[in-house]
Amino acid sequence: MSGIILESIFLKRSQQKKKTSPLNFKKRLFVLTETKLSYFEYDFERGRRGSKKGSVDIDRITFVEKVIPEQAPPPERQMPQRSDEDETGQLSKIERFPYPFQVVYDEGPLYVFAPTEELRRRWIHQLKNVITSKNDVMRKYHPKFWIDGQYLCCAQTSKNAMGCQILTSSNGSIKPVRSRRMSKKPLPPTPTEEKEKTSRPLPPEPPVQEEMKKVVALYGYTPMNANDLPLQKGEEYLILEEGNQAWWRARDKNGQEGYIPNNYVTEARDPLEMYEWYSKNMTRSQAEQLLKGEDKEGGFIVRESSKAGKYTVSVYAKSTAEPQGLTRHYVVCQTSQGQCYLAEKHLFDTIPEMITYHQHNSAGLISRLKYPVSSKKKNAPSTAGLGYGSWEIDHKDLTFLKELGSGQFGVVQYGKWRGQYDVAIKMIREGSMSEDEFIEEAKVMMNLSHENLVQLYGVCTKERPIFIITEYMSNGCLLNYLQESRRRFSANELLEMCRDICAAMAYLESNQFLHRDLAARNCLVNENGIVKVADFGLSRYVLDDEYTSSLGAKFPIRWSPPEVLLFSKFSSKSDVWSFGILMWEIFTLGKMPYDRFNNSEVMDHITKGLRLYRPQMATENIYAIMYSCWHDKPDERPSFLMLHNHIMDQIDE
Ligand code: ADP
Repeated sequence: MSGIILESIFLKRSQQKKKTSPLNFKKRLFVLTETKLSYFEYDFERGRRGSKKGSVDIDRITFVEKVIPEQAPPPERQMPQRSDEDETGQLSKIERFPYPFQVVYDEGPLYVFAPTEELRRRWIHQLKNVITSKNDVMRKYHPKFWIDGQYLCCAQTSKNAMGCQILTSSNGSIKPVRSRRMSKKPLPPTPTEEKEKTSRPLPPEPPVQEEMKKVVALYGYTPMNANDLPLQKGEEYLILEEGNQAWWRARDKNGQEGYIPNNYVTEARDPLEMYEWYSKNMTRSQAEQLLKGEDKEGGFIVRESSKAGKYTVSVYAKSTAEPQGLTRHYVVCQTSQGQCYLAEKHLFDTIPEMITYHQHNSAGLISRLKYPVSSKKKNAPSTAGLGYGSWEIDHKDLTFLKELGSGQFGVVQYGKWRGQYDVAIKMIREGSMSEDEFIEEAKVMMNLSHENLVQLYGVCTKERPIFIITEYMSNGCLLNYLQESRRRFSANELLEMCRDICAAMAYLESNQFLHRDLAARNCLVNENGIVKVADFGLSRYVLDDEYTSSLGAKFPIRWSPPEVLLFSKFSSKSDVWSFGILMWEIFTLGKMPYDRFNNSEVMDHITKGLRLYRPQMATENIYAIMYSCWHDKPDERPSFLMLHNHIMDQIDE
């Protein structure tokens, strides 16, 4: 075979394409070329390659990285032990493959185990090198294995679930997921490669002990019920159990145990989260808004850039030329040795060291970094429910303050829970909902927790009418926000709205949960302009034929793909179609889709293959993204995960 870059014998884990397929580990000869990663049987007697067992096109690979080793693997996947030596000090013949790595492609992760750390490092390096910049870059990954239908790191059940951790190295310096390739030329293979095939294990190393997970509280948390453990910002906690998606059982330093919301803590391993100046998910426009609001010379924020694996420092300063203040954004640059710097070439091993330096020296920035600005204190995230295990909420704990609007199920009110926490209360008009079915489902929905989903806190079902209690979103519904806002939105801000929604939808997709009525009217906006998806899955409980029948006057025809209109066939891909329409609503600032047609003309129009036009504010690239959602074949539409990557690529830093 020509163009072989690397060739080594590894242990390959079976891919469990079906949940019930057996998990096995086979020795295979792996061959990497510019276009394919292939694996073969290997005839050890004759030292020859056997038949091909499979391959992955390089174009389909989105991510390559190490995996945290299993907890108690069998000897062949353990580090070399002292017992590997016999009395004469010779290494025994146990072949070991203790160094796992993952090659993620569109069918999920492929797990490969290398015999030496050096060989694993070389393969990861070369694989990253051959992945071309065409590929969709993954910003997040799963540090642990997918096994028996779930990821050990985050318990997500879909193999294609979006990663739960951003890739940073342990010392906090940036380590991009993979660099965008400058040159296609792979590194030359080393002469030791061949030898590696038969090499013996390295001299004994202590086995890797997986320690109990430690986390640090990002926010303070006051228990909402007797099951909960209070959190103090900055304190460390031991995690005893991660069984539930949103609540973990933890122990504090005094030995007290209880449940904590997992979105209030961070693994001590991600050290940037510890700093006040770090706002991981803040966007460019949010940073500008926050810095302007604080109006402090030298106010600054470090945030994740929309470009994979990069960080941006946003700095605010005033000058005689700009008395109202201006914000500059500096991308943290990285040298090929992994050191980082900002405006001028003062190099540092870690971002915290770099920030400390610029707190004392402006060195090319518009100002010295004087005031860390943070939104954390004000904006502790929503918890999945009001305390662990509480989904039934007591009427008496609610105070009603203001009517917000009314919808399909009746009036929605703004209020407080226990006089302190903002909530929205949906009062369900009797006869408008199949209540028992909804109440059953609410227990599942409570566990859905994502920063861009309007959190369901619980239900009041002991009295009639029943109430649904959710997170309060002070800027109301996205459709009105787009239509009425006096602010002129930039294309970038509109794209950030799409990104917010797409992130929530990728999360629902990974949990195999369908929205079924995604549209701007079903998204809400919070006080910081963050858009969240609401009313997911609720349409199934509506008792109103006009709404539920695709022929009904209230059915969302303009947001539905042909297969829903014709065969009521809902899927994540029908949500993708609706998402395309929602992007169009955003870029037209809330226009009605196909506004010159009535409902039956719309059906005609789309079944003939005609589509919505390009909104003026959408570039060709953005229009291409929304248009890709409207493929008449559902399988040809991109997944939300892909869409999210495409949108991130268009966001301007
Ligand atoms: P329904 O689901 O019953 O059709 P909606 O969810 O559309 O009702 O709510 C009606 C209106 O109430 C919305 O347009 C919005 O203005 C307001 N609203 C609903 N939920 C919230 C919330 N969580 N926070 C703030 N306002 C809300």
